[in-house]
Amino acid sequence: MRKRVLVTGGAGFLGSHLCKRLIQDGSDVLCVDNYFTGRKENIAELLDSPHFELMRHDITFSLYVEVDEIYNLACPASPIHYQFDPVQTTKTSVHGAINMLGLAKRLKATILQASTSEVYGDPAVHPQTEDYWGNVNPIGPRSCYDEGKRCAETLFFDYHRQHGLNIRVARIFNTYGPRMHPNDGRVVSNFIMQALRGEPITLYGDGSQTRSFCFVDDLIDGLIKLMNAPDEVTGPVNLGNTAEFTIRNLAETVIALTGSSSNIGYEPLPEDDPRQRQPDISLAKSALGWEPVVELEEGLRKTVAYFKQFL
Ligand code: NAD
Ligand code: UDP
Ligand code: UDP
Repeated sequence: MRKRVLVTGGAGFLGSHLCKRLIQDGSDVLCVDNYFTGRKENIAELLDSPHFELMRHDITFSLYVEVDEIYNLACPASPIHYQFDPVQTTKTSVHGAINMLGLAKRLKATILQASTSEVYGDPAVHPQTEDYWGNVNPIGPRSCYDEGKRCAETLFFDYHRQHGLNIRVARIFNTYGPRMHPNDGRVVSNFIMQALRGEPITLYGDGSQTRSFCFVDDLIDGLIKLMNAPDEVTGPVNLGNTAEFTIRNLAETVIALTGSSSNIGYEPLPEDDPRQRQPDISLAKSALGWEPVVELEEGLRKTVAYFKQFL
């Protein structure tokens, strides 16, 4: 019997890679998406598969389907998109989580939540371990996303304690790769598109803030390992690459890799932009036997090749 797996947000960047990998591994996949930031092109190659089904649906509304496992990825992930309609962002995280947890409860299905390093806010502890409770502004422009995701984690753990639901919570750190939306405003897609077009690289602030970038294939591997781990492994588990770079480093690397003539142009640092971010992945290593293997330059080369198609 093939496993039936629901992927919400399956037409998005991470979701489309996850759908493909699950089908390759022998599952039937139901992809649910409202196409807010996702694109049919992302899953075009799967449409002919008898093991793939696509459904337009907004998870803030209830969903009655029959599946064995649920990966809940639906939620805009880049600041410009999650801040475009912040009330809808919180609804997607909170009402969406309630609906998907209700579905999992009825089906006795295991459910995985795509949580985020943003639950740590602008972290005062470095690198971030899962037992750090974070430093999050509850009323700022990033709060719809950060607090929405934090509340979703609360719901996951309450459904686990109250209803005995099998849950998995992954705290995903900055992930990049092919099929990122070229205009989604995230730093890797922005810098590569700007470099390929010979436009100024928009460095926010002085570029000394740090991020740790994980290539998509590594991340998908981690999500699947977490889903298939023993039920005691609920998480939260950090999934990310531990190699930390300043955003200025990233700009210089992208310029070098693309051989671009772009200069660096400075723009103001957005409000509440975290100063530093690096995962401690000891738990993922010990509980899942997982760690990333793709280095930044190798992953960037594959991503550059993808973005070249758009130009
Ligand atoms: P994405 O924007 O490409 O994908 C999100 C998908 O969810 C899109 O296809 C969008 O159309 C869909 N969606 C949004 N609201 C929906 C709704 N109400 N109902 C149904 N579908 C809806 O972003 P992504 O990078 O693929 O992120 C996927 C998940 O992983 C998100 O939950 C995000 O918060 C989380 N995450 C991503 C990163 C990263 O670096 N990529 C980091 C941390 C967490
Ligand atoms: N739900 C759903 N699909 C299902 C079961 C539930 O979408 O198969 C939604 C429904 O909207 C419900 C929510 O999940 O309100 C939470 O379900 P739960 O059983 O936890 O609580 P209820 O509100 O039904 O008491
Ligand atoms: N950033 C930047 N230029 C851009 C886009 C982003 O300098 O064109 C910076 C941003 O200020 C942040 C970092 O890059 O410090 C990562 O931004 P992104 O939106 O990709 O992710 P997040 O802030 O959610 O980690």
